[in-house]
Amino acid sequence: MADIIQLLPDHVANQIAAGEVVQRPASVVKELLENAIDAKAETIKLLVKDAGKTLVQVIDDGVGMSVTDARLSFERHATSKIRSAEDLFQLNTKGFRGEALASIAAIAHVELKTKQEQDEVGTAITIEGSEVVSQEAVVTPKGTSIAVKHLFFNIPARRNFLKSNTVEIRHIMEEFQRVALAHPNIGFVMYHNGSEVFNLPQSNYRQRIVNILGPKTNEKLVPVNEDTEVLKISGFVGKPEYAKKSRGEQFFFVNHRFIKSAYLNHAISSAFEGLIKEGAHASYFLNLEVNPQSIDINIHPTKTEIKFDDEHTLYAILRASVKHSLGQFNIAPVLDFERDANLDTPYEYSEKQASTPTIEVDRTFNPFNDETTKVSTLSKPKVSSQSFSSKRETPAASWESLYVGLESKGTKSQQDFSEVEFESSETTVSMFDESQITTKQSTYQIHNKYVFSAIKSGMLVIDQHRAHQRVLYEDFLQHITGKNTVSQQLLFPLQLTFSKQELDIVKQLKEDLEHAGFVFQNFDKNGFEVIGLPINVPESEVSIILDQLISDVEQGVPDAHFSVADLLAKSLAKSLAIKSGQSLSQTEQEHLVNSLFACKEPNVSPANRPTFITMTVDELDKKFM
Ligand code: ADP
Ligand code: MG
Repeated sequence: MADIIQLLPDHVANQIAAGEVVQRPASVVKELLENAIDAKAETIKLLVKDAGKTLVQVIDDGVGMSVTDARLSFERHATSKIRSAEDLFQLNTKGFRGEALASIAAIAHVELKTKQEQDEVGTAITIEGSEVVSQEAVVTPKGTSIAVKHLFFNIPARRNFLKSNTVEIRHIMEEFQRVALAHPNIGFVMYHNGSEVFNLPQSNYRQRIVNILGPKTNEKLVPVNEDTEVLKISGFVGKPEYAKKSRGEQFFFVNHRFIKSAYLNHAISSAFEGLIKEGAHASYFLNLEVNPQSIDINIHPTKTEIKFDDEHTLYAILRASVKHSLGQFNIAPVLDFERDANLDTPYEYSEKQASTPTIEVDRTFNPFNDETTKVSTLSKPKVSSQSFSSKRETPAASWESLYVGLESKGTKSQQDFSEVEFESSETTVSMFDESQITTKQSTYQIHNKYVFSAIKSGMLVIDQHRAHQRVLYEDFLQHITGKNTVSQQLLFPLQLTFSKQELDIVKQLKEDLEHAGFVFQNFDKNGFEVIGLPINVPESEVSIILDQLISDVEQGVPDAHFSVADLLAKSLAKSLAIKSGQSLSQTEQEHLVNSLFACKEPNVSPANRPTFITMTVDELDKKFM
């Protein structure tokens, strides 16, 4: 039989390798930035167009390449960084596989210009899909510029697989930040579609973090420094009270290389144990220096995972030094043993300033509308301005209908719950009869979590948090999508600072936020001012709400079918809804039930979970048999 095994042609092998190395424009950014760093650049410029789909270009002032090297750099397994297998264990550079440039050139149009210091002229090479189109001598400054255009031009399936520009640019910014954080001693600039996104001068580590994540970061940082035989740690952790909803600000660098490690991450979380709320994530920016011989970075093609020889020791050292730092900065409780958690001031309050007393205003008051005035004063005597949307002007109507027939015991008690009418808010004319409220308690709250009520078919149990989310969600959605925006003016503008990335998200949502009732002014590169708020958003919550929103957007991967309005309404509702554990007055309970059943979809929360359950008298009867 004839031989059937053939060696793959190089360009095919390169395309296959490219699949591993280049998943998206951000991968190109990472490889090119790392090459520039290995070339000892002092300043690195990144230019991106259309989220990298049209152009990714990295210009450095590093050592450059000779003519031969320039040509060789595109060959597979061409690397200047290792000579033998042993070198792998002494690695102090980013690259070593020698496949990045070959892979990239296989699936894009690449233009290289490079010159070494001592040379008069440099070299320009153009390659399209692994084929050298041109090579010539050029006048170019010392260093290297590599432009990668039309990524995946010859692999339409991969190109179509790319996400929206918003998503792709976020990945690019993520890579850029990781590299920039790992190398504060190198200056970085990034442009997207011609406008400057980052300008990071050479600086120390703290300044670099602040330059990337925004000026408000400075006060959040607690230094961590530890020098042991096996491990040197330097960097910062975020103070516990600034813990984030998302994992966005967690960075480990091992020998100046960004890595992901669930295990080491756990070491940090456990150091923060008891200091931050469940579901929140501590920020950290930590550089670990270990002997290169004790790690294996070879296990992952994109090199973000790493194997340590002695993970347990690293874990212990890391945890201890973070704990130590938190303690030193008086953040951890002084006594660690069995204290009554209830006696501690919650961390989020401990540094809060006393809040200015607010005046309670009946926001539904409208001197020109007699009806409204009457309703709101009658039915909501003391609803605290925090707790509820005060916009619903049909307080008793819908819910009261549940009671119809309750008085005439027995007559209709068998009625199935599904026959109960909810949607009567617009049609029912009956008003709250004051005497009825005061004499008969119609709702009960248990465990500060569930609200019970009798209905004509039996009983109703409402999950207060979910129910209120539903109410707020529909309310916000209506305002965001509708035209009648209502906002409360703030006496003093609220100055908020955000990182570049967060700011981008807010800008993207600005219009919808404005529809919801937010009023912004003075956007600049560090943040903006808020001068108006939706009427049910308390001023003290604004930054928490925006943080939550940003994290929701980051995690919600806003793609093709994503509705900003919906996400925004959900996020705001989630932040503002009364929580489990919050005690509700009688009026508040009643108002909640009313508002819920005035909703279009009272049965489920915005996240599609049940808001209430019912139990019929029949079912109760059976339980007693
Ligand atoms: P690796 O980085 O793994 O060695 P690459 O394919 O990324 O592989 O690069 C191949 C070689 O090209 C490098 O080893 C280096 O010698 C050279 N090279 C790539 N980029 C640059 C640059 N910006 N400046 C100088 N030399 C570079
Ligand atoms: Mg490389």
